[in-house]
Amino acid sequence: MTDPDRYRRQVRLPGIGEEGQARLGRGTVLVAGCGALGTVAADLLCRAGVGTLVIVDRDLVESTNLQRQTLFTERDAERSTPKAEAARLRLAQANSTVRIRAFVDEIDSSTIESLAAGCDLVVDGLDNFETRYLLNDFAVSQGIPYLYGAGVATEGMSMPVLSRRGPGASARIRWSESESTPCLRCLFPTPPPAGTTPTCETAGVLGSVTMTVAAHQATQAIKLLVGDVAAVDRTLRSFDLWKNANRSLDIDGAMDPDCPCCVGARYEHLHAAPAPVRILCGRNAVQIRTGDGQVDLDPLADRFAGLGVFERVGTSLRGRLRDERSPDGSPVSLVVFADGRAIIEGGTDPDWALGVFDRIVGR
Ligand SMILES: [Zn+2]
Repeated sequence: MTDPDRYRRQVRLPGIGEEGQARLGRGTVLVAGCGALGTVAADLLCRAGVGTLVIVDRDLVESTNLQRQTLFTERDAERSTPKAEAARLRLAQANSTVRIRAFVDEIDSSTIESLAAGCDLVVDGLDNFETRYLLNDFAVSQGIPYLYGAGVATEGMSMPVLSRRGPGASARIRWSESESTPCLRCLFPTPPPAGTTPTCETAGVLGSVTMTVAAHQATQAIKLLVGDVAAVDRTLRSFDLWKNANRSLDIDGAMDPDCPCCVGARYEHLHAAPAPVRILCGRNAVQIRTGDGQVDLDPLADRFAGLGVFERVGTSLRGRLRDERSPDGSPVSLVVFADGRAIIEGGTDPDWALGVFDRIVGR
């Protein structure tokens, strides 16, 4: 649907105008992770008329997502629709002129280059530091902006990374040395040890907190895409919506003169081998990735028919294993994706999950 009035209310803004709107329409944004942050950022950018959105998420919609992940419905949770696919369908209804590319996939060192190819900037919608370092390394190495964001309980924070290595040779978003910022590894040199930071599962999260973070990220994305880099909030902005606290940390002084990434150009997270087994944050589930990628789901569907009720949903095969129990006696569900991943639900013991995987799917 082409409607000349569609963007009238934002074209009226001096910072955007007709030219800015046209630039938005030529922009391509990678939304890395489509949960509480990614759904809101993707929705705002889609409605604003960004030309292409690349949405990547490895996970399935569950009922506990609906409190804050605004693109999903009860039907998505009942059907365990992959988040990326559910988001694509919903966004296409909101703005059919935006090109949406959705990938049900894990973002890791083996996938990031193909997933992010052609993207002008990266919006962080992730829930783990390991993958954030990967995005940070990728964005700095390519000379494209990376918009960090995080929210848990009633607190959130957001920060842009415009590497002091400068924009890449072919990058469309340009910034000057004085507009550059530290990178994520300047501020947080090592990831917090596993289990030491609160998660949405252990500490809870207020939906308005993640929406506020994502709205801040989307706003910086729009400024960058229209070319108003000087307007970008070059601070580590943090807030507690319950305590009515707002902080804006000047990050210029946080530039690490020895940063391996944005000074040394050593991008070790881009070269790290993807973890084959991963406990999924807040899911009571373990993800296992086989070595060689693509899996043909049709023969698996025939084989699984005797093990429980399985169905094909998009690029996945899923069902409950009738005779399987987790270490604590819970029922066990299995999802196998065409990209070679499997999610085993019902427990978080990696050895147990690997055992189930080897017996049922096989490596
Ligand atoms: Zn750095």
